[in-house]
Amino acid sequence: MTRVRIGIDLGGTKIEAIALGPSGDELSRVRIRTPRRYEGTLDALVEMIATTEREAGGTGPVGIGIPGTVSPVTGLVKNANSTWLIGHPLDRDLEERLGRPVRVMNDANCFALSEASDGAGAGASVVFGVILGTGVGGGIVVDGKPLQGAQLIAGEWGHNPLPWPEDDERPGPPCYCGKHGCIETFLSGPGMARDHEAATGRAWSTHRIADALSAGDPGAVAAYRRYVGRLARGLATVVNVLDPDVIVLGGGMSNLPGLHEDAQEALASWVFTDQVRTRVVRNLHGDSSGVRGAAWLWPVGT
Ligand SMILES: [Zn+2]
Repeated sequence: MTRVRIGIDLGGTKIEAIALGPSGDELSRVRIRTPRRYEGTLDALVEMIATTEREAGGTGPVGIGIPGTVSPVTGLVKNANSTWLIGHPLDRDLEERLGRPVRVMNDANCFALSEASDGAGAGASVVFGVILGTGVGGGIVVDGKPLQGAQLIAGEWGHNPLPWPEDDERPGPPCYCGKHGCIETFLSGPGMARDHEAATGRAWSTHRIADALSAGDPGAVAAYRRYVGRLARGLATVVNVLDPDVIVLGGGMSNLPGLHEDAQEALASWVFTDQVRTRVVRNLHGDSSGVRGAAWLWPVGT
């Protein structure tokens, strides 16, 4: 049997599994709707792994990205918005069923790992992977390894406050975490839509705002400029602490045309340095980064 690496992206609506060959080439891919029960999820994972391996003609270690983490204190899943996983020892239960080791990690870390391994941050020493989607998260990879941290929250910049706030950004919108003015409340998709609506009175989706932006609509253009300025401020405080070589933008909002270039330019006003060498780039693997990063949880040679 060929040696492959199995990566799984366990999302709230779909589960995706892939098998990667030794050089990161994709050998097979399976996608299903997520069963919203714990036992059903375990059954589905075992079946998907078998199918993926059969199609790839190989077997190997399994990595899983989840929207949460496995607590190092209890060994149980926590902070997952797929609530049916919470409180279960996902990695141990799956190891028992498969008879081999399984690694589970936060999906933002998987995104960062994928882009650092063979994506837009390949070859860089320190990579900060940013998710700008329904929520705002992030992951840090140093010399090819995810940095998890004492609380497993390394890279979670979305619940830091928006830095250098203007008067009309204070105290900022309420956040589900209990605070006001978190970066997520401004830079998530819903955050941008709320900001656009507050300024224009139009309750538009981010897709509609993006279309209007391309057409030069003044309200959409102004909302985009505010978004870029806030993104640059948020990233600048990360750069001041972490000083990454590359920042890779991911999530739905990263598809806004030109966002990484505009953020790169705006960053210069805020970072504590004379010249910003950190590169802000768009992701290379798009929606596939989560599942590819999960496969990379087992580096080559393991
Ligand atoms: Zn928050």
